[in-house]
Amino acid sequence: MEADHAYAFASDNTSGIAPPAWAALQEANASTVGSYGDDPYTEEACQRLREFFEHDALQVFFVFNGTAANALALSAICQGYHAIIAHEKAHIMTDECGAPEHFTGGAKILPCPGEHAKLTPAVVENAVAKRRDLHFPKPRALSLTQATEFGTTYEKGEMEALSQCAQSLGLRVHLDGARFTHALVHHDLSPADLSWRVGVDVMSLGLTKLGAGVGEAVLFFDADLAQEFDYRCKQAGQLASKMRILTATWCGLLRDDAWRALATEANAKATQLRQRLGEIPGIELLFPTEANAVFARFPAIVHEGLQAKGWHYYELAGVGDARLMCSWATTQDHIDAFISDVNALIDR
Ligand SMILES: *Cc1c(COP(=O)(O)O)cnc(C)c1O
Repeated sequence: MEADHAYAFASDNTSGIAPPAWAALQEANASTVGSYGDDPYTEEACQRLREFFEHDALQVFFVFNGTAANALALSAICQGYHAIIAHEKAHIMTDECGAPEHFTGGAKILPCPGEHAKLTPAVVENAVAKRRDLHFPKPRALSLTQATEFGTTYEKGEMEALSQCAQSLGLRVHLDGARFTHALVHHDLSPADLSWRVGVDVMSLGLTKLGAGVGEAVLFFDADLAQEFDYRCKQAGQLASKMRILTATWCGLLRDDAWRALATEANAKATQLRQRLGEIPGIELLFPTEANAVFARFPAIVHEGLQAKGWHYYELAGVGDARLMCSWATTQDHIDAFISDVNALIDR
């Protein structure tokens, strides 16, 4: 196997920084500007995000990663005695080492089931209805992920129904948008139409998996929720001194709609990978591919053979169930080599 193939599908952050982000970073690196976000790149990134979301009052805070964005965003809407409703496969539930609980001072995540890693209003209502007494944490937040951990997406109507349900139950809506741009291009909808216009109060927006290097943004559509949030970020060790190193890459991805081409490319590669795996007898595909992920169930001999050949992938949906991620850096060669290895291993 060629050296760079082993991690090609392991994650969408095994890729490097995408060319538009890299070019903007190089430009920012050549200048001496103010620190801690007092610089033209951070100002441009904030302004571009306000335009991107068609929201003049959007409050923007940059942090180092998605765990920090989620945990701090949730800490702005939850006290320690609150509960957060989330899917049982949600990143905040399974992959953040208790950071949301820690930064909210104890809020309890209530993990809920749902096909394709998606929640429904019925499931949310059920989670809230189970306990309404003083002896149980009070549900305060609904956290959704778009695109989901299983590479599926919420339709606009599904988001609307969920946020209406949240509102009627007194829950604020948080969106984990680590792959928000991938969901946007899948639905061909505007950022506003999949966020604040469908009831999202605060979101974590990640561009790292799309093609930035480091950093996520916490975005408040309701400015009241953002009060003193800058102090939360600083106290949590999330204020970058050379902020432009982070925000310049965001400028590069937001200029000229560069994000759109990258997300489209990543999704298209996943679609191709899925289609070609689907043509191989004995391979079961697990969820719809609506973003940049493909989940496949390989016969044991194929799974073991792929491991032996050195391919890396996570088994997030179950043992032997491969999660294969595509990104801007996925090449035709990566796909051809993987398919050829699967074909060679399949027992016909
Ligand atoms: C990758 C990812 C994050 C961010 O994770 P970090 O490693 O903390 O940056 C958040 N949510 C989801 C759904 C993710 O896939």
